[in-house]
Amino acid sequence: MTTQRFRHKTPGGKNPTGVTSPLERAILAMVFLFLVASCGGSASSPNPSTPSPTLLLVLPDTPTATQWEPTFQVVANVETPLPIEIDPTHEQIQYMATVWSIDPLIPILNYHRFTPNRYDPTSGMVKYLGEFMDEVNRLYIAGFTLISIDDYLAGRVIVPPGRRPLILTFDDAIFANQIALEGDGQPSPLTAVGSLYKFSQEHPDFGFQAALFANLGDKYYGNVLRNGRWYLGEGWEEALAQTIAWSIDHNVRVYNHLYTHINLSTARDKDIQPEMLRNDLALRGYLEQVGCPELIHFIRNYIALPYGVWPKSQKGIELLLGYVNPEGEPVEAVFEAGYEHTPTLAPSPYSENFSPFHLPRMAGLSRIIDWLEATAPSLPTAQQCQMLLPPDIWTQPASVLEGEILSLVQDGQCSQGIYILENRVFRVTMEDVIQLKTID
Ligand SMILES: [Zn+2]
Repeated sequence: MTTQRFRHKTPGGKNPTGVTSPLERAILAMVFLFLVASCGGSASSPNPSTPSPTLLLVLPDTPTATQWEPTFQVVANVETPLPIEIDPTHEQIQYMATVWSIDPLIPILNYHRFTPNRYDPTSGMVKYLGEFMDEVNRLYIAGFTLISIDDYLAGRVIVPPGRRPLILTFDDAIFANQIALEGDGQPSPLTAVGSLYKFSQEHPDFGFQAALFANLGDKYYGNVLRNGRWYLGEGWEEALAQTIAWSIDHNVRVYNHLYTHINLSTARDKDIQPEMLRNDLALRGYLEQVGCPELIHFIRNYIALPYGVWPKSQKGIELLLGYVNPEGEPVEAVFEAGYEHTPTLAPSPYSENFSPFHLPRMAGLSRIIDWLEATAPSLPTAQQCQMLLPPDIWTQPASVLEGEILSLVQDGQCSQGIYILENRVFRVTMEDVIQLKTID
C-alpha cells in the first residue's frame, strides 16, 4: 500500500482549509477513518512518510497549483485514479510522473548502537547520537530523502523533485538506544530513531522510513532510562512489544537478522532455518501481545546476514534462500554488509539484471558520509513530468498511455528515462516506451 497526497488548490487561497467540494470532504472523511483504524495510535501524530507526487483534478478554465509542497496535511490512499464521474470531452486528470533521467542508484547505510552521552566510548558499532544526527543533517543537505526497502524493491523510487533516494537500516535490533518510547508513547529523542523522527517532522522532504534488522533472541531490552542509559526493568517485554508496534506503524519496519545472530559461515546447516523462524515467530508474538496482529502484514521476508557473511556450503545457501516465513512467503531480499571498504551503491531496481539477493550496505562511518556527500552531485535527482490524461486512460489499451508519454518526450516537455506513473513503470526513450512493470 502506498500513500499519496491529494491536494486541490483554488487560486487566491479563498478557502484556507483547501476543502472545496463534497468529493474532497468525502475523501478527508475516509482518510480520517483510515487513520483512526490503524494500530498504535498514529492518528494522533503526523506521519512524515516519504512524500509522493501530487494528484490534481483539473477542471476546465480552473488554473491549479502544481508545485510540489512538503506537507503532512492530508494523506490519502489513492493508488488508482479517483472515481469521478465527469465528461471526458471537457475534463482531464493531471498526473505527475516521477522521472529518473538515468537509473537511480541507492545508498543503503547500516548502523548499530548509539549513545546519547558525549563522553561514552564509541566505535564502528557504537555511535554518539549527536554525531549520527549531524550525519543525518549532512545527508539531508546533500539532497537525500529516505525511501523504504519495500518501495525500493517494488521499483517505487519516488522522492520529491530535486532529491535522491537513501535507505537507512539498523542492525542487531532492538536496543533501546536505537528506539524506545517515552511515557506518552512518543519515541525518545535520546534514541537514534526517535531523533530521526523529530528531524523528519521538521524536514518533511527528508521523509521517515527505516528498517530494523532484529535479533530477538540474543538480548534483553532495556526499558528503564537512568542518566542517559537504559537498564533492564520489570515489564521489558511489554515495552519491547510496544516499541516494535510503534515502529512498524510509523514506517520503521522490522525484519530478520536471525534469532541469535549466528555466524552463517560456521553454523550447522540444521540451525539456519530454525534461527530464521524463531526470530519471525518472536516478532509476530510481540505484535500479538500488544494487540496489533494486523501489523504482521508489514513484515516481509527480508534477511540481513549476521556479520555480513553467507553460509560456506551450497547446501547452507540453499537453506537460507529456501526459508519460508510463517505466512508462507519466500525470502525476497538479502542484505549484505561490509561495503564501506569499497563504497558501493545498491543497483537500480529497474536494471535488467537486478537481483535482490546481494544488496550492498555500507556502515554509517563518518568517512562514508564524507564519501556520500562528495558523490551526491553525480547521482541523479528525481524529476517530474506533468501530464493531462483522459479519465478513461487506465481502461484503454496500454499503447494509448505509452503514446501520450512518448509525445511529451518527443515534444521536449519531459525527459527520457524511467517513468513512475501511478502503479506503472516505463523506460522511455525518444523512440520508444517500454512498460517495465506494474507495482502491486
Ligand atoms: Zn549484526
